[in-house]
Amino acid sequence: MSEIQLLPKVREYLQRDHAHFIDGQYRSGTSDKRIAVVNPANGESIAHVTGATSHEVDEACQSSHRAFKGEWAQTSPYQRSMIINRLADLIEANGEELAQLESLCSGKHIQLSRLFEVGQSAMFLRYYAGWATKINGETMTPSFPSMAGEHYTAMTRREPLGVVAGIIPWNFSVMIAIWKLGAALATGCTLILKPSEFTPITLLRIAELAVEAGVPAGVVNVINGTGEVGAQLIEHPQVAKVSFTGSVPTGLKVGQSAMAANLTRVTLELGGKNAAALLPDADIGNAVAGLIQTGYVHQGQVCASPERIYVHRSQLDEVLAKFATAVKGMSIGSQLDESVQFGPLANKPQFDKVSQFLADARSHNQIICGGNPLKGPGYFVEPTVLLANDSKDRFLHEETFGPILCVVPYDEVEELPALMNDSPFGLTASVWTNDLSKALRLIPEIEAGTVYVNMHTFLDPSVPFGGIKASGTGREFGSAFIEDYTELKSVIIRY
Ligand code: NDP
Repeated sequence: MSEIQLLPKVREYLQRDHAHFIDGQYRSGTSDKRIAVVNPANGESIAHVTGATSHEVDEACQSSHRAFKGEWAQTSPYQRSMIINRLADLIEANGEELAQLESLCSGKHIQLSRLFEVGQSAMFLRYYAGWATKINGETMTPSFPSMAGEHYTAMTRREPLGVVAGIIPWNFSVMIAIWKLGAALATGCTLILKPSEFTPITLLRIAELAVEAGVPAGVVNVINGTGEVGAQLIEHPQVAKVSFTGSVPTGLKVGQSAMAANLTRVTLELGGKNAAALLPDADIGNAVAGLIQTGYVHQGQVCASPERIYVHRSQLDEVLAKFATAVKGMSIGSQLDESVQFGPLANKPQFDKVSQFLADARSHNQIICGGNPLKGPGYFVEPTVLLANDSKDRFLHEETFGPILCVVPYDEVEELPALMNDSPFGLTASVWTNDLSKALRLIPEIEAGTVYVNMHTFLDPSVPFGGIKASGTGREFGSAFIEDYTELKSVIIRY
């Protein structure tokens, strides 16, 4: 097993004095808030980034607002669409550099970075590019009285909201930022990205590529720092909308401060405790393989991934045996080793959190496979399958955001909606069956933003994505994003 060679330009980029990208310029830091960027495979610092001062937050907001009112407002939908497509091309052309940078900071397997952070990002951008020329209003005929033969007509216009603050987590920092970037550019908004302090540098490179693609200065700004910088951004009077992806506690704070600041629009894509139900007729081999693939992708650090698996009691032993065989064979190692199947957790706080869950599981649950953190260096844990003790088990209610699949038996298919809905979250769910009638009867009863049949976790730009209950509010993708990034203006005309 051996790691891939880092590109010389990746080595050079890591040495830069990283801070922000404001008004079309790469900026060095001016504060003493230096944050180390760490490779989670060995715990070593690989780069540094400097956090923003409140003056720099203000500069970024003023620059975005100027761009929104200025050059960007004069750019036609077709020109915006061409720019977005060029950015997609540039992301692909620089794909290996971006994939290596992102894998180094986040622990994401290099193949996954190539596929999602690069490939999917380009695909999502091209999808949004197509929308730029198709954002339309409607026409109506009002029924006002016509005393002197006058006529009336009315129309609605979809107008861009303005400056959007995109607050980005560490798990898919490029792809999630691109969702917000594509939506903002397609609708004519400008965007300020605040990356996670754990994955702060790849988005600075994306901002450079955006300028190379023709995005005018100020339309895409990036400011770095801790949550404090995010909080300042949200409260800035020039910010018209906040699009946040991250945890429930932070999401609640973000929602409250956005509303309190200026009634700022906010969409929240938060966590999940996603249920998968295997109906008695399911192909067990396919279901187990599918749940391992989607439950352990990026070491389970995916908000849409399954964490609770409901299995008919008559099939429990067979399912557990299949999980144990498949999981025990998984190779664990560096994210830069193409032959490895399972990399490190993304950062030390995440490793500590998941290790705590595993310690609790070793004391209280029957562990089918895995269950241990690995000795350092690096933030590795074993992919784990465990059995729930009862319906109150914390592994059925608390999001671990790690590679911990909790299996629980059920007796009757009719119980499934109540069991699956027994959660504060409602992001995704899946039903595994060959009986489409049964699946179609269950779907309306399941409380989740997305229900999959015979699959889980995958996202496509044409299909709206978002949560209900504590999993958030608002939708990304499809045409649903238009509502969140535009204001509806009514125009009434007498003639
Ligand atoms: P957070 O929700 O704490 O952070 C998400 C983003 O918000 C980061 O950029 C963070 O900056 C920023 N932030 C933190 N505090 C504030 C604030 N008061 N105002 C504005 N922005 C703020 O998630 P973490 O990254 O710490 O991850 C913790 C947990 O969140 C995970 O274990 C997981 O359960 C969940 N999570 C969910 C994700 C999802 O896709 N739904 C993605 C990632 C995490 P900074 O990083 O500098 O603190």
